[in-house]
Amino acid sequence: MRVNENFGRIEQSYLFSTVARKVSAYKQANPDKRVIRLGIGDVTEPLAPAIIDAMHAAVDEMADKKTFRGYCDDAEGYEFLRAAVAERYESLGAEVGVDEVFISDGAKSDLGNFLDLTASDAVALIPDPVYPAYVDTNLMNGHQVRYVHSTAESGYIAKPDDSIDADLVYICSPNNPTGSVYGADDLAAWVQYALDHQALIIFDSAYETFIRTPGLPHTIYEIDGAERCAVEISSFSKMAGFTGVRCGFTVVPKTLTVAGSADLNQMWRRRQNTKFNGVPYIVQRAAQAALSPLGRTQTRAQVDYYLGNAAVISQGLDEMGIFYTGAKNSPYVWMHCPDNMGSWDFFDRLLEEAQVVGTPGVGFGPAGEGCLRLSAFGQRPDIEEAIARMKAMLA
Ligand code: PLP
Repeated sequence: MRVNENFGRIEQSYLFSTVARKVSAYKQANPDKRVIRLGIGDVTEPLAPAIIDAMHAAVDEMADKKTFRGYCDDAEGYEFLRAAVAERYESLGAEVGVDEVFISDGAKSDLGNFLDLTASDAVALIPDPVYPAYVDTNLMNGHQVRYVHSTAESGYIAKPDDSIDADLVYICSPNNPTGSVYGADDLAAWVQYALDHQALIIFDSAYETFIRTPGLPHTIYEIDGAERCAVEISSFSKMAGFTGVRCGFTVVPKTLTVAGSADLNQMWRRRQNTKFNGVPYIVQRAAQAALSPLGRTQTRAQVDYYLGNAAVISQGLDEMGIFYTGAKNSPYVWMHCPDNMGSWDFFDRLLEEAQVVGTPGVGFGPAGEGCLRLSAFGQRPDIEEAIARMKAMLA
């Protein structure tokens, strides 16, 4: 067979596997040293009790002939969960219809799968630095990738570049890796760009529940005109600790106009029903519980815990006089490496001298060179010790 030659366009060594390889080599050479990982953005708190109760009840239903469920009629998910997601948008002041919500097994799948709807020569405009999956999925599909670099001066908020005529625009807010949150004016500028260029915004709100500063948008649909030019992809992974359970959702408005006469809502439904058989019933009941009043209270407490960890990191960096973004409305702290060190050089130094693992900023795009991402998803005592070790190293 002839293979998809676009695979030759993506980096062979994925960022996190390189980090894992370096950490494992260090541990093998230094078995007596305790390494603290502030690298990979995976949750560490167990599922909240309301979610566990719902999963147990769903397992019992599956054990009874009268309540057993097989295939869900619609790949887009059970109505009870789509309605709960729509209600969640209503509580944020955004109007989203139940038939505009599609349940998935996570945001990452939909980020890649949605490209089935795009032309093979599409141009994707991607902020830099950002979550690497946007770039790799577009390269795999043969798309052109154009970067909009963001800088410390703008708080790592990417601004539209009218000289680029894109088909797709990615916005991740709160951003992975910089922790920056786009304000209403920032998003309005992108909505205007998208409407002017007939481009589709793919808005990734995986970290939405970390936003605590009043007045910051929690969804792109708070912005006028977004219902004509944006899909929103989100996830229960960081909101409710579902990284191993796997559930997310995508909103595809029926009112989108940027694809000409094409009905993206209908196309996505068709795509999902052709290539996907839905998310497990037990998982959808768990996600529904995460959105219930009790589930929200319990998962909010978990997010508060991670935000408390982020505050420990940011306070330490303040004391060390190191510039950073994030931490306030995000589980990530994006620090500038001291002494103008490069990302990988500082990563190596931190591992070897303090046994602390971060993620090299350059792995998130060229504008990330000279930065390191620290994740607040660990446990408090580890975070405190990591910061103490970093302080001692840089003293
Ligand atoms: N989007 C962003 C910005 C992420 O950082 C991640 C995971 O780290 C995802 C999407 C993937 O989420 P999921 O676990 O739902 O696939």
